[in-house]
Amino acid sequence: MGNKKNVYLFIKGKADGDAGMKNLLGGKGANLAEMANLNISVPAGFTITTEVCTYFMNSGGQYPEGLEKEVEEAMQLAGEAMGKTFADPKNPLLISVRSGARMSMPGMMETVLNVGLTSKTMPGLISKNGNERFIWDAYRRLITMYSDVVLEKAAGIEPEEGGGIRELLEKEMEKIKEAAGVKADTALGVEEMKMLCGIYKAKVKEILGVEFPDDPMEQIWGAIGAVFTSWNGKRAVSYRNIEGIPHDWGTAVNVQSMVFGNMGDDSATGVAFTRNPATGDNYFYGEFLLNAQGEDVVAGIRTPQALNEVSKMSGSDALPSLEETMPEQYKELYEIRNNLERHYRDMQDIEFTIENHKLYMLQTRVGKRNGIAAVRMAVDMEHEGLITKEEAIMRVRPDQINEFLLPMLDPKDEEAKQSDKIATGLPAGPGGAVGQIVFTADEAEAWAKTGKKVILVRNETSPEDVHGMHAAEAILTAMGGMTSHAALVARGWGKCCIVGCGALNIDVHKKQIEVNGRVLKEGDYISLNGSKGTVYTGKLDLFLVDPAKNEIFQEIMKWADDTRKLGVRTNADTPEDAAQARRFGAQGIGLCRTEHMFFGPDRILPMREMILAETKEDREKALAKLLPFQRDDFKGILRAMKGLPVTIRTLDPPLHEFLPHEPVNQGEVATELGITVKELRRKVAALHEFNPMLGHRGCRLGIVYPEITAMQARAILEAACALKKEGVEIYPEIMIPLIGTKAEFENQKAVVIKTADEVFKQEGISVDYLVGTMIEIPRAAITADKIAETAQFFSFGTNDLTQMTFGYSRDDIGSFLPEYIEKKILPVDPFQSLDQEGVGFLIGHAVEKGRAANPNLKVGICGEHGGDPASIEFCHSVNMDYVSCSPYRVPVARFAAAQSVLKEKG
Ligand code: PEP
Ligand code: MG
Repeated sequence: MGNKKNVYLFIKGKADGDAGMKNLLGGKGANLAEMANLNISVPAGFTITTEVCTYFMNSGGQYPEGLEKEVEEAMQLAGEAMGKTFADPKNPLLISVRSGARMSMPGMMETVLNVGLTSKTMPGLISKNGNERFIWDAYRRLITMYSDVVLEKAAGIEPEEGGGIRELLEKEMEKIKEAAGVKADTALGVEEMKMLCGIYKAKVKEILGVEFPDDPMEQIWGAIGAVFTSWNGKRAVSYRNIEGIPHDWGTAVNVQSMVFGNMGDDSATGVAFTRNPATGDNYFYGEFLLNAQGEDVVAGIRTPQALNEVSKMSGSDALPSLEETMPEQYKELYEIRNNLERHYRDMQDIEFTIENHKLYMLQTRVGKRNGIAAVRMAVDMEHEGLITKEEAIMRVRPDQINEFLLPMLDPKDEEAKQSDKIATGLPAGPGGAVGQIVFTADEAEAWAKTGKKVILVRNETSPEDVHGMHAAEAILTAMGGMTSHAALVARGWGKCCIVGCGALNIDVHKKQIEVNGRVLKEGDYISLNGSKGTVYTGKLDLFLVDPAKNEIFQEIMKWADDTRKLGVRTNADTPEDAAQARRFGAQGIGLCRTEHMFFGPDRILPMREMILAETKEDREKALAKLLPFQRDDFKGILRAMKGLPVTIRTLDPPLHEFLPHEPVNQGEVATELGITVKELRRKVAALHEFNPMLGHRGCRLGIVYPEITAMQARAILEAACALKKEGVEIYPEIMIPLIGTKAEFENQKAVVIKTADEVFKQEGISVDYLVGTMIEIPRAAITADKIAETAQFFSFGTNDLTQMTFGYSRDDIGSFLPEYIEKKILPVDPFQSLDQEGVGFLIGHAVEKGRAANPNLKVGICGEHGGDPASIEFCHSVNMDYVSCSPYRVPVARFAAAQSVLKEKG
């Protein structure tokens, strides 16, 4: 490491680094260098590289050889640029020492300001600056920060709650204020400040056992070491775990000349965005405080003033703007804003300070924004000629597209109400919701009928809860994973939903939830962020945008459609869902799950008769009652999707799911069916399976009871013939679930073909249709070449394929998944984002072998992964024809499919 450059200087007009060097200089350091190169006024300074941090970590706190000399030289040059000298008694330079990682980790690491103030340098500063109180106040701030960051945290001291040195010092400040009879810090005079500094130093000695350092060099090395050490502080480590930031990156340290926004009324400090980050509107947006330091703006102690007239609209309208107060500096800042946007070609988040009328830029970085703002900025910037259409598409994360479709919790309100957060679960259905807690589906429906907005809270949901789920604004469950019933249903409707929220102890009888010591009752308000999985008590603000009326949204989606190669279909079981998906741009149905159609009140009885039938004749009688319902269902769906392909799957779930298991319900059902409760119980028991997911379901039902498949095929094809007679264009595709062998498929295909022939003869016309299969059992994927000899399409059922490849029950993964993620055994929930290495291997193999055996084979995916951007990228890479997902994920999928093409291009 001896010859390596460890220190990179930045001085207005000239820097050693540039914006491309984020890995080495961190984001802040690289951008300070870039601004210096752009001849923008940055306070001179230097960056110590991230490599020094990793060296420091790996060597137990040692620095590489030569670093000390490099720092001294850089300090000399930075001082010269500012016309000052570090540690000089007459004209001393003061510096700040800040962290700066490759990716921003806001507030996770430490900062020390005003380094260089000592008993020797202070008199020089006072005589030069003339403001004695100001210098003592700066010294007080240095003692507070330094003792907290360097002498306590970096030294590994973990004080008890409330016993940290910062708090103890602040208490001393309170005492002095009380004695002086004042409320604000600013009301304390010079003598009080001096006294306070003395008390502070004595307290530091008493509590931490060390003298506060009076040597500028000791101060600076203490601060540098503490900032490096803070990379491995608790907060930073857990933030990296959450954000997936590698622990071996390290942070850079930026040492920079201090400039003061609190030198009087000709000084100020502020933060701004080159465009509005909440709406994307193209105007300079920000706020500032006169006579204040940067931390005062963020801390929210004083109400900041707006930067200009347009920023005034969003809040602090009464006070004069910077444009009015300091027009010259505002003009200069505005030019820098334009300059930075042109240069970076993206919205920047900037920090500035004005010291005695002189403007300095302290930071610029790409600004964070919500989805709506991201799309607006991307489209506007393309119109302005700043970026290409491709860049515009890549500027928006696919999940941000969702924000156009759903109500959302207002991010500002969420930030303000962090203390109301009570629990976190899996983000199963996106968007936000606010409502009153109810514990049963019936109550949800009843309350909703009276106009109340409710959130249905349950341990888990079942098909019997669907009416209440529908009536509720959102669903919250304590159990279940991303493919649980609640998650599937909610996602299908685009409804906000959080599942697997293990911290909730729900007592349905007492109608209350106990969560981390708090008790919530029926009727209490909660707010959910289904995109993040966070639950708050009380009411947060919601807002909504209409995508159909949003030209900007339509425009970027058109660019995405022109770019993508993958088709996007939807998983829908009702004409309403199909129509909704079509409005969102779906190009057909990739999965219509017919089992959901048997739960209606008029269908469940004949369905149960069918299941309980002892003879084929009895079964056929019951099926004949179901046929007209099914035919109507299919007519509705095929009509809603006219002109587009519709894949309908034959019955999949085990039959016992349709029977009542609770004794109370059994009495009722037995009466309806005209049998005794005992008889019903015997039959329910006979259908009991130890492992229903691996039991008598999917094509196994149709093979044992071919009349079920025949009835469904008949219903589909009779509906198709009737529509064709009306002149409606239809493209039915019949799909056989859960096959593992070619023989299983051929058996079911024969039933479909025989039925089709009968129907066409009876109707006097024929329709084109396809027969294909789900690939959701590993054996089917492995032997795909054989199956493709007779199947016309494959649709990957990656919910089951994941379940069976890993051997994890898709409904029970919640019991161990959090530990698996925490221990890094799994990177993510494999039911949410496709396991490309394992499950993906089977898919890749099946597509290749299947197409080799049958070049016309259509290939798609209809598991939950079909709406997940990373999984969609994989589907693109193995050349699938389409992905299919719930209606509300269709736009996201269209967008992710376009990004897949652009990422492949590189
Ligand atoms: C699948 O298994 O991925 C699938 C789509 O079928 P289901 O979720 O209905 O089992
Ligand atoms: Mg399946």
